[in-house]
Amino acid sequence: MFKERIWGGTALHDQFGYQIPSKNTGECWAISGHPNGQSVVKFGKYKGRTLSDLYENNRELFGNYPSPVFPLMTKILDANGDLSVQVHPDDQYAKQHENGELGKTECWYVIDCKENAEIILGHFAKTKKELADRLEKGQWDQLLNRIIVKPGDFFYVSSGTIHALCEGILVLETQQSSDITYRVYDYERKEHSGEKRELHLKKALEVINVPNIGSKIDPIINKFGKNTITTFIQSKDFTVYKWEIHEKAKLVQDQPFQLVSLINGTGMLTANGETYHIQKGDHFILPAQIGMILINGNFEAIVSHP
Ligand code: ZN
Repeated sequence: MFKERIWGGTALHDQFGYQIPSKNTGECWAISGHPNGQSVVKFGKYKGRTLSDLYENNRELFGNYPSPVFPLMTKILDANGDLSVQVHPDDQYAKQHENGELGKTECWYVIDCKENAEIILGHFAKTKKELADRLEKGQWDQLLNRIIVKPGDFFYVSSGTIHALCEGILVLETQQSSDITYRVYDYERKEHSGEKRELHLKKALEVINVPNIGSKIDPIINKFGKNTITTFIQSKDFTVYKWEIHEKAKLVQDQPFQLVSLINGTGMLTANGETYHIQKGDHFILPAQIGMILINGNFEAIVSHP
């Protein structure tokens, strides 16, 4: 499922070979059980079933995980232009104000970016009043924290943190399964229709953390022979890893389920006596009872579980 966006580009085609709908394609919803863009099983016994249908009716595949909806989503975002400066609510606020949706904590793995590309992450206001004043006056330089990024960087963006990807960044995003964004600033841009996109200042002010809560992460790096597994974050919503595979490995799938996205290379995965060829741009879920898997090849993947 692809989403066209004012800030999108062609990197999802150029880098991943996906058939994108236009030159303004911003998002690939790679693994999603959200009603606004469902993943569908490509082959095998469950071919043609949506992820939410499988999750609702075959919960054993997901270790009988208790969340009423499939809790995670994996996207690839092509920020060819600047994304709006935005914030997402937490679970409690979203439940009350957004028809029971989940809140949205997200994180980004930078797959690629241009030199000196930036993100906005967090703000400097010390009080709600200062925040409101600066928002109203458009004092973005005094308010917003900018960070220069490079490929391989990882950022944790908890709900309530003001943020934006800026021009020239391709990220893999792991997030809660939610589609709620409160836009704070959109660079006075207009869509093709001539309309500006809506801002949501009132709700944004209610949910932005003041003072800002830091997003620092402490990756844990484990080497097994030539293979490396980096644990970027273990939070209440998700745990996210990077697998760097260069030789044969056995892995035990001991989580309710795991989401896997190949961002580079090719390899083989053997499970339950079947071998699958896997390559950059593939996304799949390792279900609960799969047990031991064998992997081999030369690839990098971002992996997550609740
Ligand atoms: Zn966001």
